[in-house]
Amino acid sequence: MTIQKTFYCPQCGTRLSGKKACRNCGFDVYSEDAYGNTSALGAGGVGWSDKVDDPRFAGYQSNKRKYIGLFTVVLVLAIIAFLLLTDDLRLDGEGITVIIVISSMFILIALYAMLGTKRKGKEWMGKVVDKHLEDGKVLRSHLIIQAEKGSRQTFVFDDRIHYDYYAVGDVVKQHNKPHLRALEKYDKRKDEVLFCPSCAYLCDARDHYCQACGSPLLKGK
Ligand SMILES: [Zn+2]
Ligand SMILES: [Zn+2]
Repeated sequence: MTIQKTFYCPQCGTRLSGKKACRNCGFDVYSEDAYGNTSALGAGGVGWSDKVDDPRFAGYQSNKRKYIGLFTVVLVLAIIAFLLLTDDLRLDGEGITVIIVISSMFILIALYAMLGTKRKGKEWMGKVVDKHLEDGKVLRSHLIIQAEKGSRQTFVFDDRIHYDYYAVGDVVKQHNKPHLRALEKYDKRKDEVLFCPSCAYLCDARDHYCQACGSPLLKGK
């Protein structure tokens, strides 16, 4: 089940205001025949995207860090307020120590999450050689990818969409840029959808930007 999130024009990436057509390019995502006769199948194109260094990816990660920071502060204040109100905590020496311990714990978790938005690794190419679904509490997709140079790696995703999206034989590239980590498929012509490389929102292959976060989609020619 996906919740519809429309905040940006999927054609030009401009922020939308209200349920209206885009004021920049005129595209109306709410119109029944927004895409006219264009088919989603094939619209993803073939070849590696030239959008991987777009500054919008850095913008998305920077916003994410801000949200993590804000969320942590609100959460810590709420916990402390709750403990004070229920009389579980007093503002004496012991109480202050408890407050410091709770705050440091959450700040450490937040810092770890923030560092995760800046990780940079090696970029590599490979081929999907096998895949399967793991049926547990949550359905998981396992993708086994043989790197062009080096070993096989198993990628696990907590959904079944990744299982459906990647096929055995697909040539893929792992982007490991400071602001972008995505497993791009070389040939996107067989799919009607594209994953947003920033927020993983499922987009129409005819789109150029993610309507949920405004990041460029990785498409071929
Ligand atoms: Zn637009
Ligand atoms: Zn997105």
